[in-house]
Amino acid sequence: MKSIKANILEAIGHTPIVRLNKVAKNLPVEILVKCEFMNPGGSIKDRIGRHICQKAMERGELKPGGVIVEATSGNTGMGIALFAAVHGCQAIFVMSDKQSREKIDLLKSTGSIVVICPSSVDSKHPDSYHSVAHKLAKEIPGAYYADQYENEDNYLSHYYSTGPEIWEQTEGDFDFFAAGVGTGGTISGTSKFFKEKSTRIKSLGIDPEGSILLPYSKTKKMGEGAPYLVEGIGQDYLPGNVKFDLIDFFANVNDQQSFSMTRRLLKEEGIFCGGSCGAAVAGTINFVNENPTLTQGKRFVVILPDSGARYLSKLYNKTWLKEKGMDVGVENETLTLRVKEISGTNARIEI
Ligand code: PMP
Repeated sequence: MKSIKANILEAIGHTPIVRLNKVAKNLPVEILVKCEFMNPGGSIKDRIGRHICQKAMERGELKPGGVIVEATSGNTGMGIALFAAVHGCQAIFVMSDKQSREKIDLLKSTGSIVVICPSSVDSKHPDSYHSVAHKLAKEIPGAYYADQYENEDNYLSHYYSTGPEIWEQTEGDFDFFAAGVGTGGTISGTSKFFKEKSTRIKSLGIDPEGSILLPYSKTKKMGEGAPYLVEGIGQDYLPGNVKFDLIDFFANVNDQQSFSMTRRLLKEEGIFCGGSCGAAVAGTINFVNENPTLTQGKRFVVILPDSGARYLSKLYNKTWLKEKGMDVGVENETLTLRVKEISGTNARIEI
């Protein structure tokens, strides 16, 4: 019975690393991706949900059967929901209305209470999902606030699990580690581990256009954020888990690049993942193109944080993409016309 897990939390991690073949074909680098969407809750955030709550329980801040509050773009909520199910806790998740319907419905179906706040206000505003989560945690007696943005157990969970796993899988034989930056936990914790192991590995944070993180890393001045569509990455403030001293480079990516790359990953590599995954790969490619001397012949490991199932109504939906002014590719036009002709009048071809 050695391979039987005691519960679902033990099935978190040990996700595969896969080589990209077609989308990286013409680049002078090798790109390997870590498939974090293969975690039981569908994202890398299972790691932090488990670690943050486990540590809080060890410190007595969270009791079995207690209440956990979190501000989440969805994935951390799912990670915490797994922990809550195993330990009989009640979770309350506060989200912004920018997040996909799939993520909201998923959290509701875990038996958690879900609160939706406007995305049109900045993080300091009392209606923001950050402020509302904070208030609920303060006012509900005995509630534990997981606080992935400031709680150091977030980045430490990657120091203890994601980093060592990648090191072991690659035998430390790579040059760059790239990840989209949201709370900063993934890039900061994993980079801390790699920097203790080797001076060869440099870390690359991917930041969407409209976020203040990349501009801040260059100017050390707080700029104004602007809206963008990709979910889970970028910020309009500086979370404590973004450890700028551990991040060697930042690269920029826009929504169009993020969504087309995400769709290409599925069509050309068979990798079904979320928008921040395409953003991480496209941002890495931007960095390679902008830094040819630095990157020539190098090996990159890029994190793919979550599953495409959470975005069927968005970036995998051509009508939504068109509404948002994004280019959508046309599938094999000649064959589509032929299929239309042959299939008959009452058959409908969906795009
Ligand atoms: N991608 C997605 C889809 C996410 O939900 C998050 C977390 N907000 C990230 C990337 C960024 O990871 P981190 O918070 O560890 O920086």
